[in-house]
Amino acid sequence: KSRLAGKRALVTAAAAGIGWETALIMAREGAEVLATDIDEAGLASLPKEVQRERLDVIDTGAAAALLERHGAFDILVNAAGYVHAGTILDCDEDAWNRSVTLNMTAMFRIIKASLPGMIANGGGSIVNIASVASSVRSVPNRFAYSATKAGVIGLTKSVAADFVTQGIRCNAVCPGTVDTPSLRQRLRDTGDEEAAFKAFSARQPMGRLGRAEEIASLILYLASDEAAFTTGAIHVIDGGWAN
Ligand code: NAD
Repeated sequence: KSRLAGKRALVTAAAAGIGWETALIMAREGAEVLATDIDEAGLASLPKEVQRERLDVIDTGAAAALLERHGAFDILVNAAGYVHAGTILDCDEDAWNRSVTLNMTAMFRIIKASLPGMIANGGGSIVNIASVASSVRSVPNRFAYSATKAGVIGLTKSVAADFVTQGIRCNAVCPGTVDTPSLRQRLRDTGDEEAAFKAFSARQPMGRLGRAEEIASLILYLASDEAAFTTGAIHVIDGGWAN
C-alpha cells in the first residue's frame, strides 16, 4: 500500500534540491502533491502528476491566499531557506532581515494559514527544514543562517506543544551538508568549485555529502502515519557530522 495514500501535501521550495525530491517521493507514495516555488521552470521538471503553483514564501499574504484557494492539506513541508555566509560582522541589516523573513517569518505565515484546515480535518503533519547549523551545532561563518534555523527549531517545538491534542504533529529536520543546486552555487561562489567540494566532503565523517533523496526519505516518514508517535522533535540527518 502507498505510504501517503489519500493525503494532500503542500511543499514549498519544491523546484530544486530537497523540496523537489520530497514532492517527487510523496507523489510516488500516493499523495496528491502541490509543489510550490518561485522558480516555475524548476517546478515544470517534476512529473506531471504533481500539481505546481508559483508561491513566493516571502510575499505577505500569498500563502494565506493559496490555502484559501486550495483548502486543507494533511501535510505541509517547509523547505524554503536562505544561507547568508559570514559572521555577525559580515551581516548587515538587509542580510539579517532577509534571513529572518525567508527562514522564519515565511514559516510562521504558512503554518498559521494551514493549521485551521488541518485541525478541522482531524490532524496533519508539518515538517520544517532547519539545519544542524542551528542550536544543534555551531558552524563558522553561518551567523544569520544558524540563528534563524535555531528559530525554526523553537517555532517547531512550540507548534507541536500547542496542537498535540488536536492531531497535529510538527517536526524539524536538520540536515548536514547536502549536495543540492544551492550548495553547488555556494561552492562556485568560492571561485574554485572542485577545491571547495573536496573541502566540504573532507569535513564529513562519511567522506561524502548527503543526497537530497536521503533527506526526502526522512521527510516522507515524518509526514506519514508511520511517524504517528513523533512530534516536536529534532531529526538530525547529517552523516554523523554533529556527532
Ligand atoms: P535548493 O537551493 O536546492 O533549492 C532551494 C529552492 O528554494 C529553489 O528552488 C528556490 O527557487 C526556492 N526559493 C528561494 N526563495 C524562495 C521563495 N522566496 N519562495 C519560494 N521558493 C523559494 O535548496 P536545498 O539546498 O535543497 O535547501 C532546502 C532547505 O534545506 C532549505 O531550508 C535549506 O536551508 C535546508 N538545508 C539545506 C542544506 C544543504 O546542504 N543543501 C543543509 C541543511 C539545511
